[in-house]
Amino acid sequence: MDLYEYQARDLFEAHGVPVLRGIVATTPDEAEVAATELGGDTVVVKAQVKVGGRGKAGGVKLAHSPAQAREKAEEILGMDIKGHTVHRVMIAEGAAIKEEYYFSILLDRANRRHLAMCSREGGMDIETLAKERPEALAKVGLDAAVGIDDAKAREILTEAGFTADEHDALAPVLVKLWDVYKQEDATLVEVNPLVKVEGGSIIALDGKVSLDDNAAFRHPEHEALKDTSVQDSREARAKAEGLNYVRLEGEVGIIGNGAGLVMSTLDVVAYAGEKYGTRPANFLDIGGGASAEVMAKGLDVILGDEQVRSCLVNVFGGITACDEVAKGIIGALELLGDAATKPIVVRLDGNKVEEGRAILAEANHPLVTMIETMDGAAAKAAELAKA
Ligand code: GDP
Ligand code: MN
Repeated sequence: MDLYEYQARDLFEAHGVPVLRGIVATTPDEAEVAATELGGDTVVVKAQVKVGGRGKAGGVKLAHSPAQAREKAEEILGMDIKGHTVHRVMIAEGAAIKEEYYFSILLDRANRRHLAMCSREGGMDIETLAKERPEALAKVGLDAAVGIDDAKAREILTEAGFTADEHDALAPVLVKLWDVYKQEDATLVEVNPLVKVEGGSIIALDGKVSLDDNAAFRHPEHEALKDTSVQDSREARAKAEGLNYVRLEGEVGIIGNGAGLVMSTLDVVAYAGEKYGTRPANFLDIGGGASAEVMAKGLDVILGDEQVRSCLVNVFGGITACDEVAKGIIGALELLGDAATKPIVVRLDGNKVEEGRAILAEANHPLVTMIETMDGAAAKAAELAKA
């Protein structure tokens, strides 16, 4: 389970990690009251969505009076950030930032260990830093039995290029962040930026925490952190339509019939996408015996996801008839009209395949490409997602 920034802030505070005061608001009125309560000449209005890059997207704004905090909250509430609607903002005390650093602890599954990452160059997108200037990002493996004690903290800081006189202020914060990671059974604790403010103190200004659901039994108190009101609206919509849908991080939308076929399609698309740097965007199983209507609803869910750049429909007709699938695709495209802009690669086989292919051929829609094999279709969809 991923936490909101304000929940991460609360956990940090409980473990003694230095943070600034923050108050959650769901309306501009509440934002104004919160800013008044915080006082000071600057507050920060921050969108609470479980996605990074809020600052760049306009979801983090400074305000210099309660009235201004209200205005900024008005702008940010309701905003869509990478497909996530902002229902809450956090009004936080402003920090007089001198330097921005990066620090995280995560479960490095590939190497079967915990890993600390640290950089003097925080604030920016860490994936970009890791790619463009990997030498600026220190990676230090952690012994699970020791974690981060004072000595380990100093080792990490040295790796990241901090000078010895900077260690005293930072090392205790790293040790406490390990406490958060371990005691809360997290798989990720990320602070970006970890800042040095005027006067030299260190503050965790933005926190991202993922908790290990497998350890939930040890943490009845985590139940309260669960998000019940706001879900990914696409997931809620798909669920209401009886579709089995899971959103992932990539660009290639995937629709298939049957969990087994959809899972192998994910694998094939991931493999094909290595060449283009594209990945599956979701798992969507329309189930057995899906009608044209169900197919159309599935396509609507996928094409409406802004991270999706191409879509692969992979159907092996058994109970599901390929002509129904083809009708669903054409029907959805007709409904969407000019709103449909993403290429769709279709691979049909099995029950009523000739009829299905004939329907698509007849419609001859410019966005639809038919490919006979699964590998070929996956390669095409992965390639189109890059273009
Ligand atoms: P993210 O874009 O989702 O990672 O959101 P962050 O909370 O990290 O904020 C983005 C950027 O806004 C930070 O890197 C800071 O540069 C800036 N920022 C956030 N809080 C403050 C603050 O209190 N004072 C100042 N001056 N800048 C801030
Ligand atoms: Mn950040």
